[in-house]
Amino acid sequence: MAGNDRKNGRFTRRDFMRTAAAAAGAGVIGSATAEREREDDDRREQHGEADLILQNGRIHTMDAKNSVVSSVSIKDGRFLEVGHEARTQRGSRTKIIDLRGRTVVPGIIDNHNHIVLMGNRPGFHTPLENALSIQDVQRIYAARAATLPNRDAWITTIGGFHFNHLYANPNDKTSGRFPTLAELDAGVPNNPAFMMISFTGPGQTNSAGASVLRAHGVNVGSDGSVAGGFPISECSKALLYLRQTLLNPAERRRSVVDAMNHALLVGVTTHLDQGAFQATNTATDGAAHEDNFTMHIPFLQIYDQGKATLRLRINFLHMESDPSTPELMQRLKNAFPFIGNDWVKTGGIGEFIAQGVNDASPFKEAAKRVARAGWRAEVHSLGRRNTPTSAPADFEFEIQGFEAANGEVPGIVRDRRWVIAHVPGITQEWIDRLQAIGGNLSLTGWQYLAGNPTASTVAPYAGPPFRMIVDSSNRPDGIHVGLSSDGMQIAPMNPWIHMYYATTGLNARGVLINPNQQISRQEALSLYTRQNGWFLREEDDLGSIEEGKLADLVVLNSDYFTVPNDDLKEIRSVLTVVGGNTMFDAGVLDTRR
Ligand SMILES: [Zn+2]
Repeated sequence: MAGNDRKNGRFTRRDFMRTAAAAAGAGVIGSATAEREREDDDRREQHGEADLILQNGRIHTMDAKNSVVSSVSIKDGRFLEVGHEARTQRGSRTKIIDLRGRTVVPGIIDNHNHIVLMGNRPGFHTPLENALSIQDVQRIYAARAATLPNRDAWITTIGGFHFNHLYANPNDKTSGRFPTLAELDAGVPNNPAFMMISFTGPGQTNSAGASVLRAHGVNVGSDGSVAGGFPISECSKALLYLRQTLLNPAERRRSVVDAMNHALLVGVTTHLDQGAFQATNTATDGAAHEDNFTMHIPFLQIYDQGKATLRLRINFLHMESDPSTPELMQRLKNAFPFIGNDWVKTGGIGEFIAQGVNDASPFKEAAKRVARAGWRAEVHSLGRRNTPTSAPADFEFEIQGFEAANGEVPGIVRDRRWVIAHVPGITQEWIDRLQAIGGNLSLTGWQYLAGNPTASTVAPYAGPPFRMIVDSSNRPDGIHVGLSSDGMQIAPMNPWIHMYYATTGLNARGVLINPNQQISRQEALSLYTRQNGWFLREEDDLGSIEEGKLADLVVLNSDYFTVPNDDLKEIRSVLTVVGGNTMFDAGVLDTRR
């Protein structure tokens, strides 16, 4: 319908009837279609003016037919119209954005990450997951330094990256290393800076950082290196010092806003947080430690203040070795799963339900307790059988535990959508067993950072076996599969890096470590959007661009579907809309109208 069908910025019923009748008369559409369009028009009249219209785009809706449309309109936080013509009522308050042919995808859903940890980092945590050279690090840190309140403020990067992708020579993927002391000083001459990989390092600091850390008992190499290790390392000592001196409620809230801004830059609009290792407030704490009982407070405060810009779902992590799992029991008695609003709500128990995954651990009993309470259990698997006769891998025991819980409460696994995440070493036999009880798998591309193909003597890949698992999901009654980051320690949050790994099998050094397991870009994006909506039990509201669903979308800086493989890592949002609100705007599109 053309623009001249509008009167005073509003459709009239007569305009629509005239057009529908003309179309029907021309034999283009039948009466059933005309009737449906009349209903659509009634609905539009009832809703009044659209709040926002995006047009002239390549909008991948990720609906059941993988439809690609050119325009969407949004009203009251939901998609009002998804199609090729902006028939929606435009009023004086309707904002219209010309996408100029850009690719748009649904807001990315990360069904397994640790954004709550990222929002509780000490110092001005500055993600390096998007750096692809030493020069990138210098640029990112220099830009951050320019925003700092004073010379004492720390720039920190706690996990989520690896020196493997900090290329000394941008054209040589094997040249990755930490920046030297001099290189860091050149980027950040005045403020202290500290970066560490993974849970416990190693790390690197600059001259300003080295002098502060040394003064507080941390051994720093003359080259600025900070040793990593377990259970106590120079990195974990540095981390404890930074936490104890820098963190306070206001700083945590600022850190939450920073974490949300980073998520919007990489297009992740909904996060299912999987908790932390319980902090001991000693130097044995690594990057993944926090207080599971208080770490959500700064996030909830940001939601209360109306400053939140993305959706958060919260799992509760329990890792007790006590066979009676008293804390888990209290959680199940005193908390509720899946309660909250569209912006923030609770999830299930995960990514741990007990300490250990073996006959000596309370895993099986904990699974039964979660089942009896009617909750969902989510666990992770990092193992594989090294030889056919070696000890069972963790996923084997976990699936047996799920089977035991399902025996106790028949149907609970399927009904509550229990999940095992990561599964680098899972086999077809065990996928089939999990499928039989309705269990599901969340896949992660974390091996991209530091994975290698020799991790196993049996399977010649680093995993997870994306191809085998997605093929399994396509069978009748197949398992459900999602894709997740497991950021922020051992993996980046950036979903495009995970999609790079899932579709190429290449690690950060450009080595093919996951051969014959690649999935297509369409499949990878589907896992990260539509399928993950299902994992959140919110498939009616999230995961695709369809009329009536929550209006979350990302306008990309390049076309995900056609760019060369390496450029996948450089995909960013230029505009992120969450609940119909522009939450991130890189200033590329004209959004003044
Ligand atoms: Zn995790």
